[in-house]
Amino acid sequence: MSDALHIVCPHCNAVNRIVAGRLGERPNCGKCHQPLFTGHPAELTAATFQQHIGRSDIPVLVDFWAPWCGPCKMMAPQFVQAAAQLEPRVRLAKVNTEAEQMLATQFAIRSIPTLALFRGGREVARQPGAMSASDIVQWVRSRS
Ligand SMILES: [Zn+2]
Repeated sequence: MSDALHIVCPHCNAVNRIVAGRLGERPNCGKCHQPLFTGHPAELTAATFQQHIGRSDIPVLVDFWAPWCGPCKMMAPQFVQAAAQLEPRVRLAKVNTEAEQMLATQFAIRSIPTLALFRGGREVARQPGAMSASDIVQWVRSRS
């Protein structure tokens, strides 16, 4: 029985197979050789979103935000802190809804910031409104 997980590289978007027990050993991407987990959210675009959501065997937490949104800016450092705590069990990612309006429309994002948790390619939970790092971590852990 194989317990390898598909992990999508945040730098080159290649799908890596990583043995679950080695996730915590700071694995590098087999293609671009950069760390698969950096402690920082991955920036996703329409071109890369489906690859990350659809191919990741770990849950992906997406922060839908916009540069003009005050609460989004307040939450950004909290989201980075949450990434440091949740990786490598969860991939944290950001979608700039101003630049990626197609994604915002596709997921019917009505207020920002909105956090959406994806597992196995499907959205399993959603939470609008800014949250602290500890609230984000707790929210995700209670749902994964
Ligand atoms: Zn890579």
